[in-house]
Amino acid sequence: EKRELLKYKDVEIKNKLGRKVEIAANIGNPFEVDIALKYGAEGIGLFRTEFLYMDKTSMPTENEQFEAYKYVLEKMKDRLVIIRTLDIGGDKNLPYLNLEKEMNPFLGLRAIRLCLNKRDIFKTQLRALLRAGLYGNLGIMFPMISSLEELKEAKNILKEVERELEAEGVEYSKDYKVGIMIETPSSAIISDILAKEVDFFSIGTNDLIQYTLAVDRMNQNVSYLYNPNHPAILRLIKTVIDNAHKEGIWVGMCGEMAADVNMLNTLLEFGIDELSVSPPMILKLKKSSGQAS
Ligand code: PEP
Ligand code: MG
Repeated sequence: EKRELLKYKDVEIKNKLGRKVEIAANIGNPFEVDIALKYGAEGIGLFRTEFLYMDKTSMPTENEQFEAYKYVLEKMKDRLVIIRTLDIGGDKNLPYLNLEKEMNPFLGLRAIRLCLNKRDIFKTQLRALLRAGLYGNLGIMFPMISSLEELKEAKNILKEVERELEAEGVEYSKDYKVGIMIETPSSAIISDILAKEVDFFSIGTNDLIQYTLAVDRMNQNVSYLYNPNHPAILRLIKTVIDNAHKEGIWVGMCGEMAADVNMLNTLLEFGIDELSVSPPMILKLKKSSGQAS
């Protein structure tokens, strides 16, 4: 069946604006880039970096991170590789960080909040990213942004890291892109403001649905309420896409909804610019778009 699907590798998907939709891959470790390429990934839309930090007894070093990012960037050549900064907290804990136990971890010190709180961890990752950026087409993406101030602070730290590398005479990339995940309701609602600050958005529907509908994405008792088709979700997605386009930036989607063939037509109607899915879903998406049109 897999070989049969390979004939769809060169299918192009267009949105209602007539623009080509990039079909990118989500990866969770560097070696998945080979599978992504095999299935025809046009970019990496989400490289989750948690693997570097999990199952370990201490922080990954700057060089360890640099090697992992460089590997993927080199393999993808000039295609965009969006690397997401650390998204720990929520259900993912790092024992060696000795974080305080929280009552509501998904509403707590998670992702960008943790990084802004523990700057040394954040800056080490940004140094590794900027250095690796010399080997390909880099996009840096911040997760869980919920306010303009938070985004500005993250961008300031990025600039600070650039100045430090410059002062040390370390070579780094100066032409990378910066984006954010839209995965909190607040970020979707103020997406017109946030769009002025970044090069792209990527909608993280896994969390956006959880937070908007107040449904724990892992709780079986309420999973019947976890509905990507809820009008509140569709409205938010449409708002985000319209706001981004008004500011001249593009919008992708990297949550599970991007791989839902039943949602594809709606997203193309809304004008989505990129869909990032697990590598085996790339061809299924291309196949289904062929059948739809
Ligand atoms: C999301 O929230 O949709 C997403 C892609 O991020 P994660 O699943 O890693 O939280
Ligand atoms: Mg998320």
